[in-house]
Amino acid sequence: MTKYIFITGGVVSSLGKGIIGASLGKLLRARGFSVAIQKFDPYINVDPGTMSPFQHGEVFVTDDGAETDLDLGHYERFIDSNFSKLSSVTSGSVYQTVIQKERRGDYLGGTVQVIPHITNEIKSRIVKAQKQFKPDFQIIEIGGTIGDIEGLPFIEAIRQFKSEAGISNAINIHCTLLPYLPTSGELKTKPSQHSVNVLRSYGLQPEILVCRTQKSIPKTEKEKLALFCSVSKEAVIECRDMKSIYEVPLALEEQNFAPVVLKLLQVSERKADLERWKELVEKINHPKGTIKIAIAGKYTKLSDAYISVVESIKHAGYANNVKTEIKWINSEDCIDSKTCRELMSDVDGVIVPGGFGIRGIEGKLNVIKYARENNVPFLGICLGMQCAVIEYARNVAGIKGANSTEFEENTSAPVIDLMLDQKNVKGYGGTMRLGAYDCKIKSGTKAHEVYNSNKISERHRHRYEVNTDYIEPLKKAGLVFSGMSPDGMLSEIVELPEPDWFVACQFHPEFKSRPERPHPLFKGLIDAVVKQKHLSA
Ligand code: GLN
Repeated sequence: MTKYIFITGGVVSSLGKGIIGASLGKLLRARGFSVAIQKFDPYINVDPGTMSPFQHGEVFVTDDGAETDLDLGHYERFIDSNFSKLSSVTSGSVYQTVIQKERRGDYLGGTVQVIPHITNEIKSRIVKAQKQFKPDFQIIEIGGTIGDIEGLPFIEAIRQFKSEAGISNAINIHCTLLPYLPTSGELKTKPSQHSVNVLRSYGLQPEILVCRTQKSIPKTEKEKLALFCSVSKEAVIECRDMKSIYEVPLALEEQNFAPVVLKLLQVSERKADLERWKELVEKINHPKGTIKIAIAGKYTKLSDAYISVVESIKHAGYANNVKTEIKWINSEDCIDSKTCRELMSDVDGVIVPGGFGIRGIEGKLNVIKYARENNVPFLGICLGMQCAVIEYARNVAGIKGANSTEFEENTSAPVIDLMLDQKNVKGYGGTMRLGAYDCKIKSGTKAHEVYNSNKISERHRHRYEVNTDYIEPLKKAGLVFSGMSPDGMLSEIVELPEPDWFVACQFHPEFKSRPERPHPLFKGLIDAVVKQKHLSA
């Protein structure tokens, strides 16, 4: 029977509820339980796919093509499972379903209301995910902060769900912040008390408090929190700032977080196997060297915009026992090739990640040219691959004015063009080529060497592709097409044999990298850097 764990947040936003939920998922998985997750986001967008990365950070893509909140990435990385469309629920998608039903006449003339229609739809999403995954534990994180007007239907749905499920079948973990006042040298509990009071006013009593804090929480303060918030003392869990997010599960394990959850849900405790995770953290904390990897993109002011790319770089670093420093390069600064040279002069490897629109493209082309000519290990992702193809077409294959129709609609040499089935697509929401597609890998290539397989599956999110008319001339000029869609129509990976590592892919490998299992293409990049710098693992 599935047990449900709801995670809410109070006091401030950006508390790291996703990391706390993902850590709990890890601790339960380490005990052999199956775990599914759901992220509820109260905004009205149907999904975050149409939101600017500056607003919302990265859009994480699942195997089945859902464009979701970046927290889902943390959940997949910590729990090491693949989730689905049902894992991501927004107010927009809930309202869309209810309004579609209303238009169909499903409500038989009734007045359609937040309670019960919206709350019923929210509850049915919980049930649908349960039916798909049939997990031992279903963790449901509610985005936003308690007290937000837009989160209320979700909180009400949880209140109903909890009381229908029964005491030992569903719990609420409330995450808060204990601010530290340096003048008095104290951690303050009052904001947490207030936030629990708000939660109670909606009819929800938390069973566990997870308190984010810079300092260790004194026993007296834990007791105060337990008393005022009506939770047991052992259920006040401290969550300190950590050097690495991957340390969080171990820090929570030390405080018996999972056993407290299991006790409340009346599930027998099991021994946790966290040995490999401990080895991972050991590696993270004791690197044998440091390397510098540049990310040359457009959204460099908000690292969350490329969070899965950053995590994937780290994973490949851990496997090599090296610390990876990220150098953010705003590709617009590289439009001048002298500045590009200066910015690139101290980097050991470079990634040109995904993106949309023309801004900064010429700078990306300069970065790629620099990497190609100076043997700087390079990985291009999605837009990064399209730029690599344009750069090679212009500067090596001699295809004058080569461009993408995304940046120049009437270009004389459209080496990158809209995919055929995208030509008549109208509207932006959920209309790209999304999710997992197979790719055939050519033997004897770098891609084949790192994947060690002839067939792979990777997640996509794009509208444009390499124009098949240009594949032959590009091949003749030396570009290797090492990965193609099974029908041979879509170019999925290109590479060059000469530089130590010059590989670019149309898909997003960053969505499948795991801390203990780095993605082959990121590993290939970091391996090449480590080899160049003579830093063996
Ligand atoms: N803008 C490009 C396309 O739509 C690349 C997309 C991406 O990098 N995710 O094809």
